[in-house]
Amino acid sequence: MVIRHTECALQRFTETQLAEGISIATHHPFTELLGCFTDPIEAIRDDVQRLIEYKSLVHRDKIRGFLYDLATNSLAEVEMPRVVPQKPAG
Ligand SMILES: [Zn+2]
Repeated sequence: MVIRHTECALQRFTETQLAEGISIATHHPFTELLGCFTDPIEAIRDDVQRLIEYKSLVHRDKIRGFLYDLATNSLAEVEMPRVVPQKPAG
């Protein structure tokens, strides 16, 4: 299960804003990417797709993504775009 949540701080800032804030707060330069995103649904789809493509995972066909809504205390499954199998060339 991949679960992201609404009202995530990673959605409120850009990578640059977050890095600057951490640098100021810690008095140390910070340049790591923390995974900021704008659309939580697309972020979940990207996470699921990344895991599906990770060949070391055994049960990649069972990976599903969910969005936890803090306001309603509910979990909703994120529908993945349907993958159309490619026909073999020739
Ligand atoms: Zn968060």
